[in-house]
Amino acid sequence: MTVKLYWRDPYQRAFDAKVMARGELQGRPTVVLDQTAFYATSGGQPNDTGVLDGVPVIDVLEVDGDVVHVLAGPLTGDVVHGEIDWERRFDHMQQHTGQHILSQALVQVAGAETVSFHLSADSVTVDVNLPLLSPEQIAAAERLANEAVWAAQPVVVSEHPAEQMGMLGLRKQPDVEGTLRVVAVAAFDRCACGGTHVRNSGEVGLIHIARCEPQRGNTRIEFMCGRRALRDYGARDALLRSLARDLGVGWSELPERIARLAEQGETARKMVEALRMRLLDSELPRLAASAEQRSGYRLLACVLEGLDAGNMRYIAQQLLQHPGMVVLLGVTEPSVQFCFGRSADLDIDMNRLLRQAGEPFKARGGGKPHLAQGGGIGPAELEPLLRRAADILAAS
Ligand SMILES: [Zn+2]
Repeated sequence: MTVKLYWRDPYQRAFDAKVMARGELQGRPTVVLDQTAFYATSGGQPNDTGVLDGVPVIDVLEVDGDVVHVLAGPLTGDVVHGEIDWERRFDHMQQHTGQHILSQALVQVAGAETVSFHLSADSVTVDVNLPLLSPEQIAAAERLANEAVWAAQPVVVSEHPAEQMGMLGLRKQPDVEGTLRVVAVAAFDRCACGGTHVRNSGEVGLIHIARCEPQRGNTRIEFMCGRRALRDYGARDALLRSLARDLGVGWSELPERIARLAEQGETARKMVEALRMRLLDSELPRLAASAEQRSGYRLLACVLEGLDAGNMRYIAQQLLQHPGMVVLLGVTEPSVQFCFGRSADLDIDMNRLLRQAGEPFKARGGGKPHLAQGGGIGPAELEPLLRRAADILAAS
């Protein structure tokens, strides 16, 4: 059994220890020491990292009461000096103590019990056993939790025989035999836990709930405490200030400025649309004049450069108001589309023509006898397809 120095004093960053056993895990050397300040992954809290005699400790796990240190390289001495990565550890202590406080606040505000806890370098979450929490409940829990932080209450760890479990006023009954380790945030929260915690709730600094989302009948609450919350605030502040500078306003005027930009964008879009329609209208006489005279009808077959399917349909509709007109039109942007149409006074089945012409190209599409539309071919196939349709038309 390794003596867990982190239980005795979670603020101990360095220690000396005797090597009790050596081993290997997935090709990496491991050591078990008589005592250690390295926290082994458990209860939702990740392991510590650091060095043993200068050799990096990359993982720490508990096996049958022994703390196994997984090393980046060999360790030769029988007595070693260890140092943990204190920034990482203190972050875990802030997040973990913050979790106890937030979990208690969620019980008091919403009767929501924490069913799981996850802590990693990227996020801290608890899942609570309610499918839905209102924004008001979330805000109230966040406020209550921060009041418990600001009250700067002592965080005290005590040990009890497991039989006393029912009398300890624990937030959640643990599934433990033997000795119970109880972490109390003064009278605010009592919970059985094997993790590392700060000694005073004030050291949590700040608890901020970042996000809530449904999670298989529960609610997942993402939050951040202490330095993480400060870092997040700094990042958001920098982003807001940079946006405000780019747009030449104060940060509080950003919503108004962005709403105005969106409005201006919409006005510009409508104006472009109107100008484009005028441009299309001015093109119509030239297109109509370029139609080829055939026996019984005039044929316009062409790819419309720089126009989209909506423009193509508009042009077709306008040209087909002339009697005796057949149009075979195509566009390539943003994808290939083509439309076949004829004036009301003609008796040609454009839907059938479209299917016949498109068949060797595996084109998709269809429509009515007077107007059909297709697509699903490559840009290089568009002109051959239009030519084939013109040929079929000439032969019939
Ligand atoms: Zn804990």
